[in-house]
Amino acid sequence: MIPVNELIRGYNLYKDEYEAKAIEVLRSGWYVLGKEVDSFEKEFAAALGDDCYCAGVDNGLNAIRLGLEAAGIKEGDEIIVQANGYIATMLGIIQAGGKPVFVEPDEYFQLDADRIEAAITDKTRGVCLTHLYGQCTRMDKVLEICKRNNLMLFEDCAQSHFASYKGNNSGLFGDVGFFSFYPTKNLGGYGDGGGVVSRNKEIIDKVKVLRNYGSDVRYHNIEIGVNSRLDEMQAGFLRIKLKHMPELIANRNHIADRYLKGITNPNVTLPKIAEGCNHIWYQFIIRVDDQAEFREFLKENGVNTDISWKVPPYLQPCMVDKYGYKRGMFPITEAICDSIVTLPMMDVMSEEEIDKVIDTINKY
Ligand SMILES: *Cc1c(COP(=O)(O)O)cnc(C)c1O
Repeated sequence: MIPVNELIRGYNLYKDEYEAKAIEVLRSGWYVLGKEVDSFEKEFAAALGDDCYCAGVDNGLNAIRLGLEAAGIKEGDEIIVQANGYIATMLGIIQAGGKPVFVEPDEYFQLDADRIEAAITDKTRGVCLTHLYGQCTRMDKVLEICKRNNLMLFEDCAQSHFASYKGNNSGLFGDVGFFSFYPTKNLGGYGDGGGVVSRNKEIIDKVKVLRNYGSDVRYHNIEIGVNSRLDEMQAGFLRIKLKHMPELIANRNHIADRYLKGITNPNVTLPKIAEGCNHIWYQFIIRVDDQAEFREFLKENGVNTDISWKVPPYLQPCMVDKYGYKRGMFPITEAICDSIVTLPMMDVMSEEEIDKVIDTINKY
Protein backbone atom coordinates (compact mmCIF):
# COMPACT_ATOMS: atom_id res chain seq x y z
CA MET A 1 0.00 0.00 0.00
CA ILE A 2 1.41 3.41 -0.96
CA PRO A 3 0.88 5.72 1.99
CA VAL A 4 -0.23 9.37 1.72
CA ASN A 5 2.91 10.25 3.67
CA GLU A 6 5.57 8.35 5.61
CA LEU A 7 7.79 10.51 7.79
CA ILE A 8 10.55 7.96 8.34
CA ARG A 9 11.56 8.36 4.67
CA GLY A 10 12.52 12.00 5.22
CA TYR A 11 14.31 11.11 8.42
CA ASN A 12 16.35 8.40 6.68
CA LEU A 13 17.57 10.89 4.06
CA TYR A 14 19.70 12.76 6.60
CA LYS A 15 19.66 10.23 9.44
CA ASP A 16 23.35 10.55 10.34
CA GLU A 17 23.13 14.32 10.63
CA TYR A 18 20.00 14.18 12.80
CA GLU A 19 21.45 11.54 15.08
CA ALA A 20 24.74 13.41 15.48
CA LYS A 21 22.79 16.56 16.35
CA ALA A 22 20.64 14.72 18.90
CA ILE A 23 23.76 13.52 20.69
CA GLU A 24 25.37 16.95 20.48
CA VAL A 25 22.33 18.59 22.09
CA LEU A 26 21.96 15.88 24.74
CA ARG A 27 25.59 16.25 25.71
CA SER A 28 25.50 20.08 25.67
CA GLY A 29 23.67 20.34 28.99
CA TRP A 30 21.26 23.00 27.60
CA TYR A 31 17.85 21.95 26.29
CA VAL A 32 15.34 24.76 25.86
CA LEU A 33 15.84 28.22 24.23
CA GLY A 34 19.58 28.19 23.69
CA LYS A 35 22.14 28.53 20.97
CA GLU A 36 20.44 26.09 18.57
CA VAL A 37 17.19 28.09 18.79
CA ASP A 38 19.10 31.35 18.34
CA SER A 39 20.95 30.05 15.31
CA PHE A 40 17.82 28.54 13.77
CA GLU A 41 15.93 31.81 14.17
CA LYS A 42 18.69 33.73 12.41
CA GLU A 43 19.21 31.15 9.64
CA PHE A 44 15.50 30.77 8.94
CA ALA A 45 14.93 34.54 8.79
CA ALA A 46 17.96 34.98 6.50
CA ALA A 47 16.70 32.22 4.20
CA LEU A 48 13.24 33.83 3.96
CA GLY A 49 14.26 37.35 3.07
CA ASP A 50 16.16 40.51 3.89
CA ASP A 51 15.73 42.52 7.08
CA CYS A 52 13.43 40.15 8.87
CA TYR A 53 13.36 38.41 12.23
CA CYS A 54 12.08 35.14 13.62
CA ALA A 55 10.96 33.96 17.06
CA GLY A 56 10.85 30.21 17.57
CA VAL A 57 7.88 28.86 19.53
CA ASP A 58 6.59 25.45 20.49
CA ASN A 59 4.06 24.91 17.67
CA GLY A 60 2.19 26.51 14.81
CA LEU A 61 -1.00 27.19 16.74
CA ASN A 62 0.90 29.21 19.34
CA ALA A 63 2.82 31.01 16.58
CA ILE A 64 -0.53 32.26 15.31
CA ARG A 65 -1.86 33.16 18.73
CA LEU A 66 1.27 34.93 20.00
CA GLY A 67 1.99 36.60 16.66
CA LEU A 68 -1.49 38.11 16.63
CA GLU A 69 -1.23 39.20 20.27
CA ALA A 70 2.17 40.79 19.65
CA ALA A 71 0.72 42.66 16.66
CA GLY A 72 -1.96 44.12 18.94
CA ILE A 73 -5.02 42.03 18.07
CA LYS A 74 -7.52 42.43 20.90
CA GLU A 75 -10.82 41.08 22.17
CA GLY A 76 -13.53 41.56 19.57
CA ASP A 77 -11.29 42.24 16.58
CA GLU A 78 -12.47 40.57 13.40
CA ILE A 79 -9.99 38.80 11.15
CA ILE A 80 -10.95 37.75 7.63
CA VAL A 81 -9.95 34.17 6.73
CA GLN A 82 -10.77 31.69 3.97
CA ALA A 83 -13.64 29.30 4.67
CA ASN A 84 -11.62 26.29 3.44
CA GLY A 85 -8.70 27.03 5.79
CA TYR A 86 -7.45 24.89 8.65
CA ILE A 87 -9.06 24.86 12.10
CA ALA A 88 -5.74 25.76 13.81
CA THR A 89 -5.77 29.21 12.16
CA MET A 90 -9.24 29.84 13.57
CA LEU A 91 -8.25 28.59 17.05
CA GLY A 92 -5.19 30.87 17.09
CA ILE A 93 -7.34 33.86 16.16
CA ILE A 94 -9.96 33.02 18.79
CA GLN A 95 -7.32 32.43 21.50
CA ALA A 96 -5.81 35.84 20.72
CA GLY A 97 -9.29 37.32 21.37
CA GLY A 98 -10.26 37.75 17.74
CA LYS A 99 -13.14 36.44 15.67
CA PRO A 100 -12.58 34.66 12.35
CA VAL A 101 -14.85 35.95 9.59
CA PHE A 102 -15.01 33.64 6.60
CA VAL A 103 -14.88 34.31 2.87
CA GLU A 104 -14.82 31.85 -0.02
CA PRO A 105 -11.61 30.70 -1.74
CA ASP A 106 -10.66 31.09 -5.41
CA GLU A 107 -10.00 28.41 -8.05
CA TYR A 108 -6.49 27.85 -6.62
CA PHE A 109 -7.97 27.07 -3.14
CA GLN A 110 -6.56 30.39 -1.82
CA LEU A 111 -8.45 33.27 -0.20
CA ASP A 112 -10.38 35.11 -2.92
CA ALA A 113 -9.22 38.72 -2.73
CA ASP A 114 -12.34 39.88 -4.59
CA ARG A 115 -14.45 38.84 -1.61
CA ILE A 116 -12.50 40.60 1.13
CA GLU A 117 -14.18 44.00 0.96
CA ALA A 118 -17.73 42.62 1.27
CA ALA A 119 -16.69 41.02 4.59
CA ILE A 120 -15.26 44.18 6.17
CA THR A 121 -17.16 45.65 9.14
CA ASP A 122 -16.20 48.38 11.61
CA LYS A 123 -14.59 45.67 13.77
CA THR A 124 -12.32 44.27 11.05
CA ARG A 125 -8.67 44.65 11.99
CA GLY A 126 -6.96 42.35 9.55
CA VAL A 127 -6.83 39.54 7.04
CA CYS A 128 -5.16 36.21 7.84
CA LEU A 129 -4.69 34.18 4.72
CA THR A 130 -3.32 30.66 4.49
CA HIS A 131 -1.13 29.74 1.52
CA LEU A 132 -2.93 26.43 1.33
CA TYR A 133 -1.39 23.11 0.24
CA GLY A 134 1.94 24.79 -0.56
CA GLN A 135 0.91 27.38 -3.10
CA CYS A 136 1.37 31.07 -2.38
CA THR A 137 -1.68 33.31 -2.67
CA ARG A 138 -1.54 35.83 -5.54
CA MET A 139 -0.66 38.76 -3.34
CA ASP A 140 -1.05 41.91 -5.46
CA LYS A 141 -4.76 42.44 -4.91
CA VAL A 142 -4.72 41.34 -1.26
CA LEU A 143 -1.97 43.84 -0.50
CA GLU A 144 -3.77 46.63 -2.29
CA ILE A 145 -7.06 45.92 -0.48
CA CYS A 146 -5.39 45.72 2.95
CA LYS A 147 -3.61 48.99 2.34
CA ARG A 148 -6.71 50.80 1.06
CA ASN A 149 -8.79 49.63 4.04
CA ASN A 150 -6.06 50.04 6.63
CA LEU A 151 -6.09 46.33 7.56
CA MET A 152 -3.21 44.36 9.00
CA LEU A 153 -2.12 41.37 6.93
CA PHE A 154 -1.20 38.05 8.52
CA GLU A 155 -0.01 34.93 6.70
CA ASP A 156 -0.43 31.39 7.96
CA CYS A 157 2.57 29.74 6.29
CA ALA A 158 2.30 26.36 8.02
CA GLN A 159 1.96 24.77 4.57
CA SER A 160 4.10 27.16 2.53
CA HIS A 161 7.75 27.17 3.65
CA PHE A 162 9.57 28.89 0.76
CA ALA A 163 6.51 28.99 -1.48
CA SER A 164 6.85 32.26 -3.34
CA TYR A 165 4.90 34.77 -5.39
CA LYS A 166 6.78 36.82 -7.98
CA GLY A 167 10.05 35.81 -6.36
CA ASN A 168 9.16 36.73 -2.77
CA ASN A 169 8.73 34.09 -0.10
CA SER A 170 5.48 33.72 1.80
CA GLY A 171 5.65 35.04 5.35
CA LEU A 172 6.96 38.52 4.66
CA PHE A 173 4.26 40.03 2.46
CA GLY A 174 2.27 41.35 5.38
CA ASP A 175 2.80 42.34 9.01
CA VAL A 176 3.44 38.92 10.53
CA GLY A 177 3.91 35.38 9.22
CA PHE A 178 3.21 32.19 11.17
CA PHE A 179 4.98 28.89 10.62
CA SER A 180 4.52 25.37 11.93
CA PHE A 181 7.42 22.93 12.01
CA TYR A 182 5.23 19.94 12.84
CA PRO A 183 6.78 16.73 11.41
CA THR A 184 4.46 16.55 8.36
CA LYS A 185 5.26 20.10 7.21
CA ASN A 186 7.78 20.60 4.40
CA LEU A 187 10.17 22.10 6.95
CA GLY A 188 9.21 19.83 9.82
CA GLY A 189 11.11 18.69 12.89
CA TYR A 190 10.85 15.44 14.85
CA GLY A 191 8.48 16.84 17.44
CA ASP A 192 6.49 20.06 17.72
CA GLY A 193 7.81 23.45 16.68
CA GLY A 194 6.65 26.79 15.30
CA GLY A 195 7.92 30.21 14.35
CA VAL A 196 6.76 33.80 13.96
CA VAL A 197 8.44 36.02 11.36
CA SER A 198 8.22 39.73 10.68
CA ARG A 199 10.15 42.70 9.35
CA ASN A 200 8.97 44.54 12.47
CA LYS A 201 11.53 43.74 15.18
CA GLU A 202 9.27 45.02 17.97
CA ILE A 203 6.67 42.36 17.14
CA ILE A 204 9.27 39.59 17.21
CA ASP A 205 10.77 40.89 20.45
CA LYS A 206 7.30 40.86 21.96
CA VAL A 207 6.71 37.26 20.88
CA LYS A 208 10.00 36.37 22.56
CA VAL A 209 8.71 37.94 25.77
CA LEU A 210 5.26 36.33 25.52
CA ARG A 211 6.63 32.83 24.82
CA ASN A 212 8.62 32.78 28.06
CA TYR A 213 6.15 33.75 30.84
CA GLY A 214 6.12 37.34 29.62
CA SER A 215 9.62 37.95 30.90
CA ASP A 216 12.06 40.35 29.23
CA VAL A 217 14.95 39.48 31.52
CA ARG A 218 15.15 36.53 33.86
CA TYR A 219 12.62 36.69 36.75
CA HIS A 220 11.15 39.98 35.48
CA ASN A 221 7.69 39.66 33.94
CA ILE A 222 6.26 42.51 31.91
CA GLU A 223 3.41 40.62 30.18
CA ILE A 224 0.89 37.95 31.15
CA GLY A 225 2.79 35.47 29.03
CA VAL A 226 2.60 31.76 28.35
CA ASN A 227 5.08 28.92 28.12
CA SER A 228 5.54 28.45 24.40
CA ARG A 229 9.28 27.80 24.15
CA LEU A 230 11.07 25.95 21.36
CA ASP A 231 13.50 23.28 22.48
CA GLU A 232 17.10 22.88 21.40
CA MET A 233 16.68 19.41 19.90
CA GLN A 234 13.97 20.54 17.47
CA ALA A 235 15.85 23.72 16.57
CA GLY A 236 18.94 21.63 15.89
CA PHE A 237 16.98 19.25 13.62
CA LEU A 238 15.35 22.17 11.84
CA ARG A 239 18.74 23.77 11.12
CA ILE A 240 19.77 20.55 9.36
CA LYS A 241 16.55 20.29 7.39
CA LEU A 242 16.67 23.98 6.45
CA LYS A 243 20.00 23.39 4.69
CA HIS A 244 18.44 20.56 2.68
CA MET A 245 15.25 22.40 1.70
CA PRO A 246 16.31 22.97 -1.95
CA GLU A 247 16.71 19.18 -2.47
CA LEU A 248 13.51 18.41 -0.58
CA ILE A 249 11.52 20.93 -2.62
CA ALA A 250 13.04 19.55 -5.84
CA ASN A 251 11.96 16.01 -4.86
CA ARG A 252 8.37 17.12 -4.33
CA ASN A 253 8.40 19.14 -7.55
CA HIS A 254 9.50 16.05 -9.43
CA ILE A 255 6.64 13.98 -7.98
CA ALA A 256 4.13 16.77 -8.73
CA ASP A 257 5.43 17.15 -12.30
CA ARG A 258 5.03 13.45 -12.94
CA TYR A 259 1.46 13.54 -11.58
CA LEU A 260 0.58 16.64 -13.61
CA LYS A 261 1.88 15.13 -16.85
CA GLY A 262 0.84 11.52 -16.18
CA ILE A 263 -2.69 11.80 -14.82
CA THR A 264 -4.97 12.02 -17.85
CA ASN A 265 -8.25 10.61 -16.51
CA PRO A 266 -10.96 13.11 -17.57
CA ASN A 267 -12.80 12.51 -14.28
CA VAL A 268 -9.92 14.14 -12.40
CA THR A 269 -9.32 17.88 -12.08
CA LEU A 270 -5.64 18.54 -11.46
CA PRO A 271 -4.45 21.39 -9.21
CA LYS A 272 -3.88 24.69 -11.01
CA ILE A 273 -0.74 26.72 -10.54
CA ALA A 274 -1.32 30.46 -10.66
CA GLU A 275 1.00 32.73 -12.63
CA GLY A 276 3.90 33.97 -10.55
CA CYS A 277 3.50 31.21 -7.96
CA ASN A 278 6.12 28.72 -6.93
CA HIS A 279 4.34 25.68 -5.48
CA ILE A 280 6.16 23.64 -2.82
CA TRP A 281 3.61 20.80 -2.88
CA TYR A 282 2.90 20.34 0.81
CA GLN A 283 -0.03 18.36 -0.54
CA PHE A 284 -1.14 17.36 -4.02
CA ILE A 285 -4.88 17.92 -4.16
CA ILE A 286 -7.11 16.79 -7.01
CA ARG A 287 -10.86 17.08 -7.43
CA VAL A 288 -13.30 14.35 -8.48
CA ASP A 289 -17.10 14.16 -8.59
CA ASP A 290 -17.37 10.87 -6.74
CA GLN A 291 -14.93 11.34 -3.86
CA ALA A 292 -15.83 8.23 -1.81
CA GLU A 293 -16.00 5.84 -4.77
CA PHE A 294 -12.73 7.15 -6.22
CA ARG A 295 -10.89 6.78 -2.91
CA GLU A 296 -12.27 3.25 -2.46
CA PHE A 297 -11.03 2.25 -5.93
CA LEU A 298 -7.55 3.59 -5.22
CA LYS A 299 -7.46 1.86 -1.86
CA GLU A 300 -8.48 -1.48 -3.36
CA ASN A 301 -5.59 -1.04 -5.77
CA GLY A 302 -2.99 -0.24 -3.13
CA VAL A 303 -2.97 3.57 -3.08
CA ASN A 304 -3.95 5.38 0.09
CA THR A 305 -5.50 8.85 -0.07
CA ASP A 306 -6.89 11.39 2.35
CA ILE A 307 -9.23 14.41 2.44
CA SER A 308 -8.04 17.69 3.91
CA TRP A 309 -10.66 18.45 4.97
CA LYS A 310 -14.07 16.82 4.70
CA VAL A 311 -15.61 19.23 7.22
CA PRO A 312 -14.64 22.91 6.81
CA PRO A 313 -13.63 24.82 9.95
CA TYR A 314 -16.86 26.84 10.29
CA LEU A 315 -18.89 23.58 10.39
CA GLN A 316 -16.76 21.97 13.13
CA PRO A 317 -18.98 21.43 16.21
CA CYS A 318 -17.00 23.93 18.34
CA MET A 319 -17.47 26.67 15.74
CA VAL A 320 -21.15 25.89 15.16
CA ASP A 321 -21.68 26.09 18.95
CA LYS A 322 -19.85 29.40 19.23
CA TYR A 323 -20.98 31.27 16.12
CA GLY A 324 -23.96 29.36 14.73
CA TYR A 325 -22.59 28.79 11.24
CA LYS A 326 -24.67 26.52 9.02
CA ARG A 327 -24.15 24.25 6.06
CA GLY A 328 -24.91 26.17 2.86
CA MET A 329 -23.27 29.43 3.95
CA PHE A 330 -20.16 28.91 1.80
CA PRO A 331 -21.17 26.76 -1.18
CA ILE A 332 -17.81 27.05 -3.01
CA THR A 333 -16.02 25.73 0.07
CA GLU A 334 -18.53 22.94 0.59
CA ALA A 335 -18.18 21.86 -3.05
CA ILE A 336 -14.40 21.77 -2.53
CA CYS A 337 -14.71 19.66 0.63
CA ASP A 338 -16.99 17.22 -1.20
CA SER A 339 -14.64 16.74 -4.15
CA ILE A 340 -11.01 17.04 -2.99
CA VAL A 341 -8.70 14.06 -2.60
CA THR A 342 -5.14 14.21 -1.21
CA LEU A 343 -2.76 12.03 -3.23
CA PRO A 344 0.45 10.50 -1.83
CA MET A 345 3.10 13.25 -1.54
CA MET A 346 6.20 13.02 0.61
CA ASP A 347 9.92 13.73 0.79
CA VAL A 348 10.79 10.66 -1.27
CA MET A 349 8.82 8.39 -3.59
CA SER A 350 10.25 5.80 -5.98
CA GLU A 351 9.50 6.04 -9.71
CA GLU A 352 7.57 2.76 -9.37
CA GLU A 353 5.37 4.24 -6.67
CA ILE A 354 4.71 7.36 -8.72
CA ASP A 355 3.87 5.20 -11.76
CA LYS A 356 1.51 3.10 -9.68
CA VAL A 357 -0.40 6.16 -8.41
CA ILE A 358 -0.70 7.54 -11.95
CA ASP A 359 -1.70 4.22 -13.55
CA THR A 360 -4.26 3.44 -10.87
CA ILE A 361 -5.89 6.86 -11.26
CA ASN A 362 -5.94 6.56 -15.04
CA LYS A 363 -7.62 3.14 -14.77
CA TYR A 364 -10.44 4.53 -12.67
C1 LIG B 1 -0.29 22.51 10.66
C2 LIG B 1 -1.03 23.79 10.54
C3 LIG B 1 -1.18 24.67 11.62
C4 LIG B 1 -0.85 24.30 13.04
O1 LIG B 1 0.43 23.95 13.29
P1 LIG B 1 0.77 23.04 14.59
O2 LIG B 1 2.25 23.14 14.67
O3 LIG B 1 0.26 21.68 14.31
O4 LIG B 1 0.11 23.68 15.76
C5 LIG B 1 -1.78 25.88 11.40
N1 LIG B 1 -2.22 26.24 10.19
C6 LIG B 1 -2.11 25.43 9.12
C7 LIG B 1 -2.60 25.90 7.80
C8 LIG B 1 -1.52 24.17 9.26
O5 LIG B 1 -1.43 23.38 8.19
